[in-house]
Amino acid sequence: MTSQSEPLPEPRPFVFELNRLTEYTDAAILDELRRVAAVVSDGPLLVRVFLQHSRVSQGAILRRFGTWADALAAAGLSGRSGAKLGVRGAKWNVNHRITNEEVLAALSELACKLGKTELSVSDMEAHLSFGPAILRKRWGSSRTAFAAAGLSLSKLGRRYTDEECFDNMLTVWTHHGRPPKYLEMGQPPSKVGSKAYMKRFGSWNKALAAFVERVNADTDSPAMAAPAISDTPIAGQPAPAAQNSSRDKREISLGLRFRVFHRDRFKCVLCGDSPSINSACVLQVDHIVPWSKGGRTAIDNLRSLCGPCNLGRGNGYDD
Ligand SMILES: [Zn+2]
Repeated sequence: MTSQSEPLPEPRPFVFELNRLTEYTDAAILDELRRVAAVVSDGPLLVRVFLQHSRVSQGAILRRFGTWADALAAAGLSGRSGAKLGVRGAKWNVNHRITNEEVLAALSELACKLGKTELSVSDMEAHLSFGPAILRKRWGSSRTAFAAAGLSLSKLGRRYTDEECFDNMLTVWTHHGRPPKYLEMGQPPSKVGSKAYMKRFGSWNKALAAFVERVNADTDSPAMAAPAISDTPIAGQPAPAAQNSSRDKREISLGLRFRVFHRDRFKCVLCGDSPSINSACVLQVDHIVPWSKGGRTAIDNLRSLCGPCNLGRGNGYDD
């Protein structure tokens, strides 16, 4: 009765009270989810809409249930999930906790789809089944998570050349001794993030294909070189002393370096060390007969050595 004449029905303590549950058990949180789901209109229950009505924070839900989709499923509301991208169908049910790798992959996919280098909260809410809270919880901050997903690297305004992209790919490929995985481009020793590859090549598979094409195009072994060169290469053997003016360059092209590493199984041919078993190991391509002594820059005169073996050779070798 007395409240009827009151024009402003929101004294602060009262609102504060409304915004909190008296207890935060799983059951209480799920009740709250169901209560809000019944209040708002049908269709996907977006986090943003939920929070306008809810007395539970997004952080509390995600801490408890991992993802928004998981929370909805636990409340029997999986049909109301607004999740789109990043949700691999019904895989993310209540028993499945999204892995870090899945979170990062979903972020990268979404950023790529939206053509952005960083995502806003509303981007995430509109497209993903998890929110910024899960990023903060697992990576300390959204920014760090974006960086882990390779998103902030291109944010720095750096545009990598194809050569830098391929060179970095070679480094990471050699490091693992196999084709790198998308998310490995966001981790050392990679210096060019996954997103840069997505941006430049459209997809990770296309980036790998472009790398392989580049490797195959580097035909500067004498046996494969253009016929303009006047000396007569002996395929399959290191040329002992090619002294004419049209001899090959000392620099070893990316494709040739890759083929040498690949032939040597990404291992040092002297001691067997490899980056895949010893992360401190860095492979180098070495001229067997030094270039300065007429040795060719050709696959048969090249080999993979680790740093110590390359440094520890006799004087007859030059690089
Ligand atoms: Zn070695």
